[in-house]
Amino acid sequence: MILYTLYENSYIDIAHLETLKDVHVYVNLTNRCPCACTFCLRQTKEMLESNSLWLEREPSVDEVIQEFQKYDLDDFAEVIFCGFGEPLERVDDVVQIAGILKLYRRDLPIRINTNGLANLIHKRDITPELKGRIDTISISLNAPDAKEYYELTRSRFGIESFQAMLDFTVLSKQYVPHVVLTVVDIIGSEKIAQCQSLCDELGVTLRVRPFEE
Ligand code: SF4
Repeated sequence: MILYTLYENSYIDIAHLETLKDVHVYVNLTNRCPCACTFCLRQTKEMLESNSLWLEREPSVDEVIQEFQKYDLDDFAEVIFCGFGEPLERVDDVVQIAGILKLYRRDLPIRINTNGLANLIHKRDITPELKGRIDTISISLNAPDAKEYYELTRSRFGIESFQAMLDFTVLSKQYVPHVVLTVVDIIGSEKIAQCQSLCDELGVTLRVRPFEE
């Protein structure tokens, strides 16, 4: 399933929707991710095998564009790169696809949901490549400090991942109009307040998402 949306607490291929008016379209590009978050559905074997977002094979840029060509981009409220892995594992392809979509509809809002570790993955600063293509980047903050972040994400880059994610956040501000850090509400009000202070220091928005089992 390459293009999907959230529908009644589940994922649905947008081809199965009755109307596409104002739909938020998610692009599923990869299963790869440098993290193994304790809360991630990827950690459950049954979910891996049964989940409709699990890709047997990564779609090429051409295949993704062909999927989009089946629809009228003017209908969409937003396009979001977000699947069962880290979309910026394929940063070149994300940038290429976003660029093509913007050619057809300049004001189409495009977002990336990311763990913010792309600069570690690619060993270079990829944030300039997002300029003019990505409107919003939503980065998982998860926790207010490095130790707790690492315990939750089990990033293969180790404890340094937290600072790298914050650095990525600051760098993104130069190229992406809306930079958002996210946490889930179950971390509690005290930690949410600490995360808010961190966001205030960095000059970005904090979004507190409801936790879904
Ligand atoms: S970063 Fe996202 S995709 Fe990767 S393990 Fe964590 S929750 Fe799952």
